[in-house]
Amino acid sequence: MNTGLFTLNDLIAQVKAIRPDADVKLIERAFAVADSAHKGQKRMSGEPYIQHPLNAAMILVEMHAPDPVIAAALLHDVPEDTTVTLEEIQEKFGEDIASMVNGISKVGKIKYRGVERYIENLRKMFVAMANDIRVIIIKFADRLHNLQTLDSMPQKKAYRIALESLEIYAPIAGRLGMNEIKGRLEDAAFRYVLPKEYDFTLELATKATQNKQPAIRKIIDQTKDEFYNSGILFIDIHGRYKHLYSLYRKLLKYGRDITKIYDFTAIRCILPTTADCYAALGIIHSRWTPLKGRIKDYISQPKPNGYQSLHTTVFYDHGSIVEFQLRTPEMHESAEFGIAAHWNYDEAKSKKMAAEGLKRLIDAEKEIEWINQLSVLQNTVKDKQEFLDSLEELKLDVFRDRIFVYTPKGDVIDLPEESTPIDFAYHIHTDIGNTCSAAKVNGIIHPLDQTLRSGDIVEIVTDKSRKGPNPDWLKFAKTRHAKAKIRQYARAGLANWIKGVIPAAIRKKTK
Ligand code: MN
Repeated sequence: MNTGLFTLNDLIAQVKAIRPDADVKLIERAFAVADSAHKGQKRMSGEPYIQHPLNAAMILVEMHAPDPVIAAALLHDVPEDTTVTLEEIQEKFGEDIASMVNGISKVGKIKYRGVERYIENLRKMFVAMANDIRVIIIKFADRLHNLQTLDSMPQKKAYRIALESLEIYAPIAGRLGMNEIKGRLEDAAFRYVLPKEYDFTLELATKATQNKQPAIRKIIDQTKDEFYNSGILFIDIHGRYKHLYSLYRKLLKYGRDITKIYDFTAIRCILPTTADCYAALGIIHSRWTPLKGRIKDYISQPKPNGYQSLHTTVFYDHGSIVEFQLRTPEMHESAEFGIAAHWNYDEAKSKKMAAEGLKRLIDAEKEIEWINQLSVLQNTVKDKQEFLDSLEELKLDVFRDRIFVYTPKGDVIDLPEESTPIDFAYHIHTDIGNTCSAAKVNGIIHPLDQTLRSGDIVEIVTDKSRKGPNPDWLKFAKTRHAKAKIRQYARAGLANWIKGVIPAAIRKKTK
């Protein structure tokens, strides 16, 4: 991505390259108003202020944003930081653009103030998002440019902005399927939040990339040959390296050993149709031996954030491994920009689509449930440490990748990745969880502590005479819901036991 000093002409050229029939006049008018309003203002870095909205607009062009969104991005800091008011913007540019600009100022007031305010912040973000998802996407572009220019900020402020990006913005981008934006936000913030870890990861990744590059080039050439020989058309084949922060998170899981990160490098094949993707997978497997259990079909079973691709990991050169990712151009655009890949150029439609997309992608009901769960948590858990632990569990539930499993009747249940039959049982009903004695997966008895996989048909065997859940289940239950129910039962059990043991009269006295 280009960052730096841009001119209006750069922006227009970029827009036209993507959309020859763009409303250039609108963009020029928005630029003129922003440029004169910010005249004389400078960024901390010393650059003229207009560079900031211009850079944000460039990022949005790259995401194929429609013209009114680009105009709103150019104007986004005008009412807040200059003498030009929102009313004037409305007069000149109409209701739609003014309402986006207003939305951005509002979202801009949401500040990260420690984990205690996290809930409140997320809720505000979700509300803004539900109103107009374009506002959040502009906000991502705004934030991305701010992160790229943090060096000129006082250290404390830089740290706060970076942390806020890592804790609030990036997870939301991820939930909207905007993986490229999520990766960029995280990498830009990572440097400021954990500088030593950033340096460590960067050095490791640089070395590993240098080592791998020749082999990757060779495999790409070989893949092209294989495709030519089999008559498979392809649009592009390129190597991709994992974003640094996501690599770092994975390194922590694997004892900081980069050789254990199978998807550090991947070879991405963009093919014209879904059928080509499956055909190409066959060709790859006939040339290189696939690793067992590493073939993932996210085309027929997309991730809940909409992600689609075929993944496979293969051996090459006596035991080295590399991941292939196969997808169509539509899937590729969706994977990079998520909901922003579905911009619609008609404004009213765009809003409707955004609302539908939001519902589809983050499942509005579940978000409401999550907000409810959060407020229950806020009100019930008084101990700070317990609150933080619970919050961590809840965050995992919502932001972890999900799997889809089925009840014997064929109902689809979605659970966080690595869920066990216990999580499934409690998801169905608390009583089913409490009286669960065994589980069958695809008709076969399945240990309660073993994780489920997408596509499994899960049947819970209950035993009505069972007294309650086994506290050991806490060791492998993954969802907060299941854990809370198991703990609740244990606590209630203790209370009942006290009731039974201590005569009522004494209990009253001790009160
Ligand atoms: Mn801004």
